[in-house]
Amino acid sequence: MAVYVLHFSEPIGESQTGDEEYIPHARHYVGYTCDMDRRIKEHRRGSGGHLCRVAKERGVTIEIAHVWVGAGRGFERYLKRVYKNTPKICPLCSPDGEERAVSVWEGYKRKRGQDAKGSG
Ligand SMILES: [Zn+2]
Repeated sequence: MAVYVLHFSEPIGESQTGDEEYIPHARHYVGYTCDMDRRIKEHRRGSGGHLCRVAKERGVTIEIAHVWVGAGRGFERYLKRVYKNTPKICPLCSPDGEERAVSVWEGYKRKRGQDAKGSG
């Protein structure tokens, strides 16, 4: 299992009004997979997620910004909830993104460990 962040070479967003108004944060995609190799190939082919299809159509490059090996769906949801502004945890966008990406995972595991206390 792994949770990953993809970084697009150009921001991608939905055209809300039919003109060039894009959702500004759509430069990243947070996902979850059991098979990272297969999943990234799917993304680069343009399948597996609407944003990735749009990226493919526009010729936008998809890069893997970070992979948390061993992380699962709970962490994916946590990332989406806490880090709506994903550039913070993207090493390609933020100079300390890598460090923050590691520490957010450590923090999550610690919190989950505390929540599990008393259950065994
Ligand atoms: Zn980025």
